[in-house]
Amino acid sequence: MDKEHNGCIFYGNEDSCSAELTQEHIFPEAIGGALTINEVCKKHNNDLGSKIDSLLTDHWVIQLARFALKIKGGNKLPNPFGNGVLADDPNLKVTSRVDNSRNIVFKLLPSITKPVVDSQSYEFTITIDESDRENVQGIVGKIMGRQKTKSGQKEDVLLVDQTISSSKIIKNEVSIDTKEYKVAMLKIIYELSYYWLGKTFLDDSIAQSIKKSILNPNILSTDFDLAKQISLCKIRSNDEPHMHIGILNSYNGKLWCYVRVFNIFEGNVLVSEDAGRYPHFREGGKRLIVDTITGIFEEKEG
Ligand SMILES: [Zn+2]
Repeated sequence: MDKEHNGCIFYGNEDSCSAELTQEHIFPEAIGGALTINEVCKKHNNDLGSKIDSLLTDHWVIQLARFALKIKGGNKLPNPFGNGVLADDPNLKVTSRVDNSRNIVFKLLPSITKPVVDSQSYEFTITIDESDRENVQGIVGKIMGRQKTKSGQKEDVLLVDQTISSSKIIKNEVSIDTKEYKVAMLKIIYELSYYWLGKTFLDDSIAQSIKKSILNPNILSTDFDLAKQISLCKIRSNDEPHMHIGILNSYNGKLWCYVRVFNIFEGNVLVSEDAGRYPHFREGGKRLIVDTITGIFEEKEG
């Protein structure tokens, strides 16, 4: 059977595809992408999701937006704050988690000073989070166990409790990817162009070079031409921060696809040198707005 264009839009003519086609979110589900296509096989949907989509959905700035907008997507809410230390005492470690009300809760990890031991006594200070006050016996017990105290020693425990409050500054390290996320943006542009232009698009030489960039296993370690067309958004005052936008437009007989993810990343990429290949594509173009909070998307001509 000739599988070409009857199946997966990434590897449709290869045997590596699984037989089953699955629902593919054009904007990844984790960022509230409501629009789907059905032409990606299950294997490549999973592979590209974990290898490519995650470069965008796990990007720190995107995680922050997902958390701030409380977008459920398919996954649980990300925690962009991670773990860190108190700025004014880097020996004190702070963890953070997302609670049931979907707020970030910071917590100080118990810490212990170096014990002062002599024949009579055994003394140290522990610092705990205020929320651990009721568990203090257990925490002390655990620490004492670890210290292997000699029997008969008097154990002086000097307790200090410390609360994380808004007056506390927490330091942590954040990695900001400046390039890899662009491959995931390119994947959105490829799928959105396919959605509007149909199967003819898959034979377009520009589409094939875009696909090659997405699937190139070395793309992350090399510069690719299309990368310079994708960048941080130039923020405009009327931007809706919870919307994704897609636009397909013709200009001088060529087609360009613009994609904006939240008001964070955007890219405008040439998707066809020959708009004439697509007679059903009307002058004036296509426009799509995805509301990531309601999950509603709206499509417009022109
Ligand atoms: Zn496939």
